[in-house]
Amino acid sequence: MDISVVVPLFNEAESLPELHAWIQRVMQANNFSYEIIFVNDGSTDNSWDVIEELSKKDGNVKAIKFRRNYGKSPALYCGFKKAQGNVVITMDADLQDSPDEIPGLYHMIKDEGYDLVSGYKQKRYDPLSKTIPTKLFNATARKISGIHNLHDFNCGLKAYRRDVVKNIEVYGEMHRYIPYLAKNAGFTKIGEKVVHHQARKYGHSKFGINRFFNGYLDLLTLWFLTNFGKKPMHVFGFIGSIVFFIGFLSLCWLFGEKIYNLCNGVYGDLLSQHASFFVALTALILGSQFFLAGFIGDLISRQNPSRNDYQIEKEID
Ligand code: UDP
Ligand code: MG
Repeated sequence: MDISVVVPLFNEAESLPELHAWIQRVMQANNFSYEIIFVNDGSTDNSWDVIEELSKKDGNVKAIKFRRNYGKSPALYCGFKKAQGNVVITMDADLQDSPDEIPGLYHMIKDEGYDLVSGYKQKRYDPLSKTIPTKLFNATARKISGIHNLHDFNCGLKAYRRDVVKNIEVYGEMHRYIPYLAKNAGFTKIGEKVVHHQARKYGHSKFGINRFFNGYLDLLTLWFLTNFGKKPMHVFGFIGSIVFFIGFLSLCWLFGEKIYNLCNGVYGDLLSQHASFFVALTALILGSQFFLAGFIGDLISRQNPSRNDYQIEKEID
């Protein structure tokens, strides 16, 4: 099979027939063998009935129905597990992404050797309150992930070589960082294609303003997991040792000074009357806390069942 189109959806009943007909038209015009996998993420409208109707008319329609709303990432995760096409294309259900982009994306994966191609909505039809934070968000994501050629990490329209989707785990709200996940899994040929974007035709956006806050926290987590997930002691132990050492040296200095003064018959203030004494004590305590955090982190990462999951590209027996 050439292409699997994975469509996560939450209450998008009005858009589905139009989206399905459009995808079908593009696939037939290009002679692609394909499947469309609708992942109904706990919709409370009649999306599922619409999908059932479509599947009766078209044997290429497959679907998954969640018992409740889990989020876009879990929907993609399950769609990816089911996908059989050589190229997997994800697309939002709200008609903001155009199925006319499918052939172009397909050829970039198939003929130009890309592992992942992300859509780039250069001209967006979204409110300013969304486009400005998005610019900032993408700049940070580029810097942290080291994928410098992507302008639009969170574009719903993306194409993947099948290996990619079978070897990454999209969880929580990590759909915003799939290129970063792919890069961590060793798929480095990541490209971009400028795509048409349209205003939402039916319904409303399913993500509120907290998308940005959560997005940044997720980016931080991902950065930490990528760099230190398997060796937390390297970061906490390092910080802990430095802080502890500073505290220890300052205390030695304070005690030494006190003893020197006493020997010379100068009694002076009590050590506890100096702020530096408390600063040194705090540093000692903080240092050992950091160290312990690293130690416990290492113990946890040893217990992690995926501690020995490595991406093996080929094997000869
Ligand atoms: N979506 C989903 N589960 C959710 C939220 C959204 O499957 O919990 C789907 C939604 O139906 C749409 C896609 O994810 O197909 C993108 O959502 P939306 O258009 O609301 O996001 P925006 O375009 O505002 O970023
Ligand atoms: Mg949308």
